[in-house]
Amino acid sequence: MNPRTIGELRESGYQPAPVKAEVERNLIRAMEAGEELFPGIVGYDFTVIPQVVNAILSHHDMVFLGEKGQAKTRMMRALTRFLDDKIPVVSGCEINDNPYDPICLSCKRKIEQHGDIVEIEWLPRDRRYGERLSPGTKIADLIGDLDPAKVAGGAPLASEDALHFGLIPRMNRGVFAINELPDLEYLIQVSLFNILEERDIQIRGYPIRFPMDVLLVFSANPEEYSRSGKIITQLKDRIGAEIRTHYPSTREAGLKIMDQEAKVDVGEGYQLDAPDFMRDIVEQITVEARKSSHVNQKSGVSARLSITNYETLVANARRRAITLKESVVTPRISDLNYLYTSSQGKIELDPFREESLTETQAIEKIIERAVRVVFTERTAGMDMDPVVDAIAGEIRIETGDMIPSADYKTIVSAAPQIWEPVHALGGDKSDQARAACVEFILEGLYLTGKLNRKKIGEMAAYRGK
Ligand SMILES: [Zn+2]
Repeated sequence: MNPRTIGELRESGYQPAPVKAEVERNLIRAMEAGEELFPGIVGYDFTVIPQVVNAILSHHDMVFLGEKGQAKTRMMRALTRFLDDKIPVVSGCEINDNPYDPICLSCKRKIEQHGDIVEIEWLPRDRRYGERLSPGTKIADLIGDLDPAKVAGGAPLASEDALHFGLIPRMNRGVFAINELPDLEYLIQVSLFNILEERDIQIRGYPIRFPMDVLLVFSANPEEYSRSGKIITQLKDRIGAEIRTHYPSTREAGLKIMDQEAKVDVGEGYQLDAPDFMRDIVEQITVEARKSSHVNQKSGVSARLSITNYETLVANARRRAITLKESVVTPRISDLNYLYTSSQGKIELDPFREESLTETQAIEKIIERAVRVVFTERTAGMDMDPVVDAIAGEIRIETGDMIPSADYKTIVSAAPQIWEPVHALGGDKSDQARAACVEFILEGLYLTGKLNRKKIGEMAAYRGK
């Protein structure tokens, strides 16, 4: 049974800790137990996570600097993992007062009058994390303001009774996260500086100071963060740890994130069998987009590009399976034609580039580059010359996403030499796998300059050079 009054709490021997000490204590416990510190965070084991651990051990507030889609918000939210399950606060307090050392006037009065019989409540971990998301946040929302209702009710203007507490004081003894720090207006930055420097807040310039116990975490785009004038230097100076996030450094890490986040349930009666080369292509599209000179690299290309592209790819394969009554769902090259819906909006074109492409053209280039890279990797050491030689003269092979998988047997009957590489790529296990391998080889040969290709709507016609 949890203590229910300050007296009972005292008897239990409970000792509260400042939030940063509490987070540190639980982190150390997790490290000593050999636990995974940030479950679900991929690729940060040797870069971001050690820096976060050091920041916690140093009792630092921190800012995560990174381009979009680098799990910054996720990292900030994950810090709540190191809060106690629950902590005692004075019952009914707006700012989660420590029962032994309250700072708000109403709690102070209550305890003065009733002493140890004042009730406490136990605040669960999930109510000790606050986040500011919208860019339009006002100082009144974040810090506090005069409460007109309280003033009308007779509270003196210059007293604490007339105040409404903002989000940060309400997160007293917890974690408060602020996204896109450079978007915050000057006055809010000054208030934040005050919290970081003095650990207290002042509302509306009234001489009311609250010693705040809060762990502040921020996120920002590095470009914006370093641009002069965007962030007051005193504020930057007071943030203990600047932690640089990054995109997955290997395709494997990217695929792991994709598998973890993508929702690709194909439903009862269907079976998903995505060839590895198709999965590689999806992740490679993101990798290529991050290198493309047509793309605005300052804002970055989120991991969400791979995730939603993979979902769309599987969706189109499902559409085919359902329509054509095939039970195996196997994405293939012709499904890539549908990735524009999930790529547009996630790829921001570089506005300063002279040779300008439309969004569609830029995405097409990126997709083709990705297919070429994966094709070159996967077919290294395979002899494609017999296939290229066979597809010559009047031979023309048509592929498309709504062609039944079983038909690929006859479609390529004019060039049976293709079966050897199809076999080597794992195309024997089903009609669907075979169709996917055929399309991959034909498209790869086109992209490496060995075949011609003509696109007719969603169909592609390949012929010899
Ligand atoms: Zn209070």
